[in-house]
Order: sequence, then C-alpha cells, then structure tokens
Amino acid sequence: GILDNKVALVTGAGSGIGLAIAESYAKEGAKVIVSDINEEHGKQAVEKIKSEGGEASFVKADTSKAEEVEALIKSTVEIYGKLDIACNNAGIGGEQKLTGEYGLDSWRKVLNVNLDGVFYGCKYQLEQMEKNGGGVIVNIASIHGTVAAPLSSAYTASKHAVVGLTKNIGAEYGQKNIRCNAVGPAYIETPLLESASGDMKEALVAKHPMGRLGTSQEVAELVLFLSSDKASFMTGGYYLVDGGYTAV
Ligand code: NAD
Repeated sequence: GILDNKVALVTGAGSGIGLAIAESYAKEGAKVIVSDINEEHGKQAVEKIKSEGGEASFVKADTSKAEEVEALIKSTVEIYGKLDIACNNAGIGGEQKLTGEYGLDSWRKVLNVNLDGVFYGCKYQLEQMEKNGGGVIVNIASIHGTVAAPLSSAYTASKHAVVGLTKNIGAEYGQKNIRCNAVGPAYIETPLLESASGDMKEALVAKHPMGRLGTSQEVAELVLFLSSDKASFMTGGYYLVDGGYTAV
C-alpha cells in the first residue's frame, strides 16, 4: 500500500469520519493507533481493522487535555517505534443557540475540544516528528472553517481557527520535512448527525449542490491522499470535500 512501513495516529477514531480514516490508513499498510475518549468504540474499531487484515492498537485519550495528548504520542512511539502520520479528527458539534444566547460553558467546551485539542495534538506530534526527521499532519476542520453555521458560533470559530493553526504550521515547518494540511468536509452521514430530525436533514441535503450528504469514506480518500507522498508539495492548505456546498 501507499503507507507501507508508516505509523499513523487518528484521534476520535472510534466513530464516523475518524474510523473511516483509520481503516483507510490500515488498508494502505500503515500501523494505526486508534485513539478515542470512548474506550468501547475505540476497541471495536481496532477489532474491525484487524478483521480486515490491518494492524492497529487502541490508546485512550481525551484530546481536550494536554497531558493526555502528550501521553498518547509517547504511547504511540512505545507501541510502534515512531510517528509518521497524525490525523487530528476528534471534534464535537456543541450547543445550538444564537450567538447572543450562547452559553459560556458551551462555548468553552467546543473550543476546548475542537481547537485546544487540535493544538495539543499538533504540538506533541510536531515535537516527535522533528525527532523522526519528518512527518505529516492532517487536521479535520469543516466547511465551517470558511462559511458560517448559523446557531453554532463556537463550532464555526473553532474550525476557522483550526484552518489558521494549520497555515501557521505549514509556514513554520516547511523546511523541516513536516507537512500539515486541513480538510473541510460538508455534512457527512455520521453518528454526529444521527440526532438531527428528518426535516433538518432534508434542509441540510438541500444546501449541497450534489443533492446528498457525503460519506465518511469520501472524506477518508482526501485525508489518505494528503497523508501520502502523493501530496509531497502540499502544506499549509485547506481542502474542501463538500459536494459543492461552499460554491453557492
Ligand atoms: P462522531 O461523533 O461520529 O465521531 C467523533 C469521535 O470523536 C467519537 O468517537 C468521539 O468519542 C470522539 N471524541 C469526542 N470528543 C473527544 C475528545 N475530547 N477526545 C477524544 N475523542 C473524542 O463525529 P464525526 O462526524 O465523525 O466527526 C469527526 C470530525 O469531523 C469532527 O472534528 C467534526 O467536527 C468533523 N466534521 C464532521 C462533519 C459531519 O457532517 N459529520 C462535517 C465536517 C466536519
């Protein structure tokens, strides 16, 4: 596979987009660290990857806690000897309220997971990758890294910030053989959207010129490309996989 002999880490890999990314990495030959705050889902993901012939191990971590992320990178190196690829995928949607009514705690929680968590990931991954002599990071942003999500200010702000963080890393690490890019999926069929009502889902579908939501696999294909040597001249970028959502 295109990731033979690579060691890859995926956060939030117990479900949805992260699970599809972890499976794709493993299918392409990488040894994968599946990390999640949800131990049951993370362990199930490892079993699924192994049953598909891949190599994976579960390491529990809450990405919103710096010390747990630092320990996660340490464990990765202890288990598989190095870190070549990291996908910072763990994220939450958060409360839905007008900005003037948005709860202070809700705001902090979303920013803590979606932004602080990605920063902690990048910080400790970069440190490790510098020791390795190189590496690749892919941060999962959203279309809301460039357009609004009415009633989800915290989410929009956090994803715009992830795009900015990614650009900065691209600028800083260009000569250190470390590439970092962000991905902007539109609405994807995942457990994150399961709570949405039928009407809400229909309204969401209507915002995509392609007339449907995306699949986790369609996001994983882009992440896989960016994580591989095929994307060897790509860093600091933000790439959409959005069925045309942001084009209209
Ligand atoms: P999901 O809820 O299906 O999966 C998210 C996973 O992250 C879960 O397994 C959860 O346990 C884990 N997680 C949550 N908080 C965590 C924490 N603090 N530490 C570690 N793990 C944690 O969601 P998804 O739809 O697969 O979303 C994955 C990423 O993709 C998120 O960053 C999300 O913002 C982004 N995204 C999703 C969509 C969509 O429509 N589903 C669209 C654009 C971007």
